[in-house]
Amino acid sequence: MRPRIGIPCETVRDREWWPPLHGHRQSYLEAVVSAGGFPLLIPLIEQEDLLHDFYGQIDGLLLAGGKDIDPAHYGEKPHDQLDEVDPLQDRVECYLTRRAVADGKPVLAICRGLQMVNVALGGTLYQDIPSQFPTTIDHDASSKHAMAVNIEDWTSRTHEMHLEPESQLAYVLETTSLPVNSLHHQAIRRLAPGLRVVGLSPDQVIEAVEGTGRSFLIGVQCHPEALYNGADSRWQALFAAFIESCMTWGIEQGEEGG
Ligand code: MN
Repeated sequence: MRPRIGIPCETVRDREWWPPLHGHRQSYLEAVVSAGGFPLLIPLIEQEDLLHDFYGQIDGLLLAGGKDIDPAHYGEKPHDQLDEVDPLQDRVECYLTRRAVADGKPVLAICRGLQMVNVALGGTLYQDIPSQFPTTIDHDASSKHAMAVNIEDWTSRTHEMHLEPESQLAYVLETTSLPVNSLHHQAIRRLAPGLRVVGLSPDQVIEAVEGTGRSFLIGVQCHPEALYNGADSRWQALFAAFIESCMTWGIEQGEEGG
């Protein structure tokens, strides 16, 4: 049995005068499938009872990359460099993240997902790295590369990530340093309780976090879903470890339920 991996959708407006679409990028779905998971897209719905039912259907939560998070969630006004936000997606992901972390259900968080975990657990963000954090590294260089070559190539690895040797991520990737792609203009500012920093870029931007508890909770600021299947196959092991944890979690819950 493949563990069911919930991926909250994001909304896309293909025409301003048409209703928005709910979905997510194929790369996340393929990464889950290739690691042995069953991807289950979670629509953005207001009703908590329905979200609760969706939550009950999944063995793990994958929080994907995407839009900026509304700074109101950490008590700030929007910076003028803040990009598009989606209040409904924020609410849905906050709810699912807090539930999963509280229950010890496995969470893998990528890019916006890592930022979401931090915000949902009480941390804050830099709303815009270039204007709020002094650095010579362009953390959006990989998207500029993709734009320049005009193909969906997110594989250009533009800065290094240094990993805490005593971390699950270092253990899984079998290294303490590797080059990563970087497509973000926001980053963790104040770390939330319950998280620890396990990955930093050379300019000390937080690039990876883990939960301090026993359950699987890993967040990365880079995009492994664009790397595992060619550019850097070491990332396969992260998806595999996540799916394995979800499988174990599902089996344990089944046993507890009788
Ligand atoms: Mn980066």
